[in-house]
Amino acid sequence: MPGRAAILERQLGLLNQGLALLSRQNSFYRRKLAGIALPLSSLSDYRRLPFTTKSELIDDQSANPPYGTNLTYDAGAYTRIHSTSGTTGRRLKVLDTEESWAWFTRCWEEIYRVFGVGPGDRVFAAFGFGPFVGFWAGFEAAHRIGAQAIPGGALSSLQRLDAILDCRATVLLSTPTYALRLAEVARENGIDIAGSAVRATIHAGEPGASIPATRSLIESAWGARAWDHAGLSEAGAWGYECPAGEGMHALESEFIAEVLEIGGDSPVGEDQPGELVLTNLGRWAAPVVRYRTGDLVRLRSTPCACGSAFLRFPGGVLGRADEMVQVRGVNVYPSAVESIVREESGISEFQIEIFARRRMWEMRAEIEVGEGSKPEEVKARLEKKLHLRLGLRAEVALVPVGSLPRFELKARRFRIQREGSQNEM
Ligand SMILES: [Zn+2]
Repeated sequence: MPGRAAILERQLGLLNQGLALLSRQNSFYRRKLAGIALPLSSLSDYRRLPFTTKSELIDDQSANPPYGTNLTYDAGAYTRIHSTSGTTGRRLKVLDTEESWAWFTRCWEEIYRVFGVGPGDRVFAAFGFGPFVGFWAGFEAAHRIGAQAIPGGALSSLQRLDAILDCRATVLLSTPTYALRLAEVARENGIDIAGSAVRATIHAGEPGASIPATRSLIESAWGARAWDHAGLSEAGAWGYECPAGEGMHALESEFIAEVLEIGGDSPVGEDQPGELVLTNLGRWAAPVVRYRTGDLVRLRSTPCACGSAFLRFPGGVLGRADEMVQVRGVNVYPSAVESIVREESGISEFQIEIFARRRMWEMRAEIEVGEGSKPEEVKARLEKKLHLRLGLRAEVALVPVGSLPRFELKARRFRIQREGSQNEM
């Protein structure tokens, strides 16, 4: 495995090749890179490059419809188009050429290799195959590594379960939430998925598979090893779970990853949470350079037990950077809350609201408690645990089973309402 110096040297080489191309052919980045001396002589020069934000890319597409100016080639060269799953209506269109899509797929091939997926595997994608990039590249990479790729779009959950059993799928691709949803439907219908051929589940689209309690629910329901993977429409498939269980590794052979202070531009220290900032090093047709992902991660750069020198993020993606609040000096973020909720195995779905009231953070949770558990006891235990472990007053409300939304992609279970200077509390 390459050491740190070799990784950084490769990054600088790829970056300089890409920046040279952008400064000639990509009008979005030609504007942004104006005045910067190329090639960069070291990666410390890299930190002088301007950031790219999602709203900047969306504004550019609005001002220059339909695809904006972050294009390195003529429009006719782009053979793929996806769009982000924005709920606001301001969706970002992301374009790829054959070459840049092949790079995206190669990142997934690398991830499959780490997870031990290959020839002989049958990979079922429980995914809608809509405009969101989701598992499109994972699906394509499956057949490229010699596995069989089974599309699971446009099917009900029950039909998906039937197909998984019928095709003897060995690998499931889905969000963590949806793996649990399928398990719930299997239980309701007396289907034995723990005894199915599925031996590994690969998750993306939202944090969850790195949360110990969520992971163990998935693993015991499916009788399989659950793997976490992280990707982003705008950047690509950037992360994979460490096989030694040390967190999410950034795929630094294909990306430059930094962790910066939330809302700032200084690097965070070891083990500190911050915002992940990425440059992709092979998608030059429509790249992102120093892209502020909005994803919250905790940085660890010490040598890893798995032998990889790539940076890693314990606990994976912890949530969105703007979803972190500080309660008496303790960082509270969605995955910390989810890990506590999921420890109560009787809870089948939940929603969390964190809000400021009279300069104090409080939390309200709505939970569904399935059959076989005593709702009032679960409620009382959860209130106590949330208060004890997070240090904030928590009110838990029981709601009827099936009343909370179920998600196939991008579960939205957290809402944070700030008032005034609550961040300092
Ligand atoms: Zn590792």
